[in-house]
Amino acid sequence: MMATKRIAIAGFQHETNCFGVTQAGLHEFEMADSWPSMLHGAQVISETFGMNLPIAGFAKAAAAAGFEIAPTLWCSAEPSAHVTDHAFETICEMLLDRIRDVGDIDGVYLDLHGAMVTESLADGEGELLRRVREVVGFEVPVVASLDLHANISAEMVDNADYLSVFRTYPHLDMAETGARCVPVLQRLLAGETLYKAFQPVPYLIPLHAQHTGSKPFSEIYQLPERFEQQEILAEIALGFTAADFSDTGPSCLAYAATAQKAAAAAEEVVHLFVSREADLDCSMLSLEETVSICRERRGKPIVVADVQDNAGAGGTSDTTGLLAALIEGGTKSVLMGLFHDPESAKQAHEAGEGARIKLAVGAKSNLAGHVPVKAEFEVLALGDGLCRYTGKMYGGGVATLGETAALRLVGHEASIDLVVTSIRNQCLDRAHFTHIGLDPTNYAVICVKSTVHFRADFEPIAGDICSVSSPGAFLCNLEEIPYTCISRRLVNTRCATVASTGTG
Ligand SMILES: [Zn+2]
Repeated sequence: MMATKRIAIAGFQHETNCFGVTQAGLHEFEMADSWPSMLHGAQVISETFGMNLPIAGFAKAAAAAGFEIAPTLWCSAEPSAHVTDHAFETICEMLLDRIRDVGDIDGVYLDLHGAMVTESLADGEGELLRRVREVVGFEVPVVASLDLHANISAEMVDNADYLSVFRTYPHLDMAETGARCVPVLQRLLAGETLYKAFQPVPYLIPLHAQHTGSKPFSEIYQLPERFEQQEILAEIALGFTAADFSDTGPSCLAYAATAQKAAAAAEEVVHLFVSREADLDCSMLSLEETVSICRERRGKPIVVADVQDNAGAGGTSDTTGLLAALIEGGTKSVLMGLFHDPESAKQAHEAGEGARIKLAVGAKSNLAGHVPVKAEFEVLALGDGLCRYTGKMYGGGVATLGETAALRLVGHEASIDLVVTSIRNQCLDRAHFTHIGLDPTNYAVICVKSTVHFRADFEPIAGDICSVSSPGAFLCNLEEIPYTCISRRLVNTRCATVASTGTG
């Protein structure tokens, strides 16, 4: 019988919006937000157990496969502008020290995002993987899982024996993607060689057009399963457009027993991207169009995604363009969330439930050109912001929203209820509303500061879904982004009327 293999595991997650407002310092990695706080040693397993997180999926599958797991460190911060050099160096040092200190290991698993940019490094994960490799050497297999929004670089590919990537957006398969590293690790430890092929897709795709339940991704993501029957592992990332980096964009990775087989598979995936470019739906409604549609709304709610103010993409989650337009339009039966506005939440808590108070809601993050909405609100309910997710994506986990309040606009023709929080979170789960007594199904219009992830829990109650181009820190019209480093072209947003351009 083979001796039990020992695997060191760690996680360090950040998705960087280079055009965001606030940076991610050490504190942001230590605190809880959408995900748990920084976890040390055995906590890495106990505090993520059963959650839809890559490291939880890996740990469960690795234990079932008979591996001995050596947990070291796991942390994440809500997407934002650059990771500070101090945070990156401190966390890297802790992580590497602990990998050195856990004793003899046979392999390493890392739970990474793949779109981390620091103050000094364009490719955070490439550098982290390089340093891990330096510590463990080339004899010890290093595998990692990445987010579907990873901007994969050659440095990441070279320094990892295998990278798995989420295959769904909304990310329903995070745990599964972590677990997918286990059988590969077993093969590598048995002495198998996996040849890699890495090929970029030639164009960038805005996030609101990356829903994997829609064309062309419903077709593209069938390829990995088909390749599995030919003993090829194919991993596809769609990239994170707000990370300004030479490797920003979608790409395909393939692993097989021969270099030729891997290269052919990666080529086929990229070819499919190119031939299906015209299927991408990059449309967004203007504020005027949105208000007009919402005013007429009857029956099942319309879900309006305020995609450019998505906290989960480094948005400030406090822009007021949509709120102001809906008030101005006299829109009825609107529910909105989540506004990151600690000041308003505090004032509501001081006033108490049932009180009527004047507030200046939103625009607290100093994002240029944004102003708060000044109005009277009734405090409907107050909460401590500990919110147990009930949706498919995060169910089993807890969101930490900080001091929270449900507010009702008064003295206007428009009828609008909204939730303000003290910690920035992406509004992607009905529990963000229900935990504070607001039932989304009672409204005609539900506005969520989210991109695509909200679909996992709101699609079942939605009559319609649309994306609105209200101004925010996460630009979805790629032509408006002041890129300085990208190497791929932008998706042809008028692609529906343009023939595909071939692989060149
Ligand atoms: Zn993602």
